[in-house]
Amino acid sequence: MNTKVLPGSGESESKTNPLHLPSVDRLLADTALAQQADQIGRALVKRAVQQTLAQARESIARGGAAPTEAQLIGQAQRLAQQQTVSRLPKVINLTGTVIHTNLGRALLSEEAIASVVSAMRGYNALEFDIDSGGRGDRDDVIEDLICRLTGAEAATVVNNCAAAVLLALVALGARKEVIISRGEQIEIGGAFRMPDIMRAANCKLVEVGTTNRTHLRDYQEAISEKASLIVKAHRSNYAVTGFTAEVGDAELAALAKQAGIFYMVDLGSGALVDMSQWGLPREPLPSDALSKGADVVMFSGDKLLGGPQAGIIVGSRAAISRIKKHPLKRALRVSKLVLAALEATLRVYDSDHHIAERLPVLAMLSKQRDVIRAACERVAPMLARHAGDAFEMRIADCASQIGSGALPEERLPSAAVVLTPKSENRRNGALLNKTLASFRKLPTPVIGRISDDAIVFDCRCLSPADEQLLREQLQ
Ligand SMILES: *Cc1c(COP(=O)(O)O)cnc(C)c1O
Repeated sequence: MNTKVLPGSGESESKTNPLHLPSVDRLLADTALAQQADQIGRALVKRAVQQTLAQARESIARGGAAPTEAQLIGQAQRLAQQQTVSRLPKVINLTGTVIHTNLGRALLSEEAIASVVSAMRGYNALEFDIDSGGRGDRDDVIEDLICRLTGAEAATVVNNCAAAVLLALVALGARKEVIISRGEQIEIGGAFRMPDIMRAANCKLVEVGTTNRTHLRDYQEAISEKASLIVKAHRSNYAVTGFTAEVGDAELAALAKQAGIFYMVDLGSGALVDMSQWGLPREPLPSDALSKGADVVMFSGDKLLGGPQAGIIVGSRAAISRIKKHPLKRALRVSKLVLAALEATLRVYDSDHHIAERLPVLAMLSKQRDVIRAACERVAPMLARHAGDAFEMRIADCASQIGSGALPEERLPSAAVVLTPKSENRRNGALLNKTLASFRKLPTPVIGRISDDAIVFDCRCLSPADEQLLREQLQ
């Protein structure tokens, strides 16, 4: 290490410092640390030096040997470097789940990325009417597009679908009764529970029917003077099968209309186009519920839609204008970056031109098994080498998930690199976990899963760019 001997060190140092550790300033004067400070900032390096000295003092107090100055400098350098590493690192998703909430959900189209970059760099007409030079409304950026794509009269956008549900409940149902089937008291990952949201929105929850069966007469009997809304929540992350009954949108919309109240549908995922054109199961469209008479329908921007995190609310002019006027709308509104990404994503749908190639979510969901298998074959040797000799590698058919509650029962035919512990290591959970963790410790972490006592890397979500990164760090 490049340790300078400074005047005033030695004797006087040991007197002022009973633990015989060098001072912060003395360590900061070291050439290597000074160079690092020039690169990443003196404050970070200083904090790392202070942490290093504190750790050393603790270790000495526990009876450990005093570290040398070179050791202290090395440790401070490492700590300082660690502080420059993002806590939101890019990862390579080999879980097979396309809309993975824990890994950031939808990847954006190139159009959306370019639009966000441009919105970050310069001013834009977020709430400015270019024609008149007067004030505009940020919903104007996307309202026409959304209406055209869903057939709605009006639309607005908030931070996410949970916010959309909350805002609609507050604006349309606060202090009134809100009717919902017992079969739809949903909980979505991340502590979004319908009864809790209703309470937060100050709505009085009126549950009707039973867990497996709810009939029109259940809703009819529940409607009182105090009713304001009938709510339907899409069962996005579970299925009710067997002896079941639920009431359709058309009947509920008609009932609400007759009673002079609103009918609201929380779709959750909500695709804008019929997914069956790519061989995927059909997810309900907002236009389905609207054409059957729903007053308000909400869905996520970053699930099947393939855009940024957002909650899109569509519906009748009467319902949407009440929602827009509520003060909470201001608190839940989206940023210009989200609007930029959402507008560009919606324009892809509006063009109806190569949608499945331009939107990564649709591209990955519609990827055929033979294409995924070919990717598995290209990366399998690298993955096997990194896992080491304790594993046998094979490429096998598997099924991937859409994710984020969309089409919960559906699995997509896929292929994976499967690493199975050799017979002498079988039933060794620790080995599986340790090896999976070693993939997460790579410079760009690789995320797989454990299934049936094997490590499974499903290559559905492996983009050409990610494959290149994988190659660079594993070869
Ligand atoms: C996912 C989902 C939500 C929440 O959407 P976010 O955009 O994640 O806030 C609400 N309702 C349903 C039915 C969902 O599936």
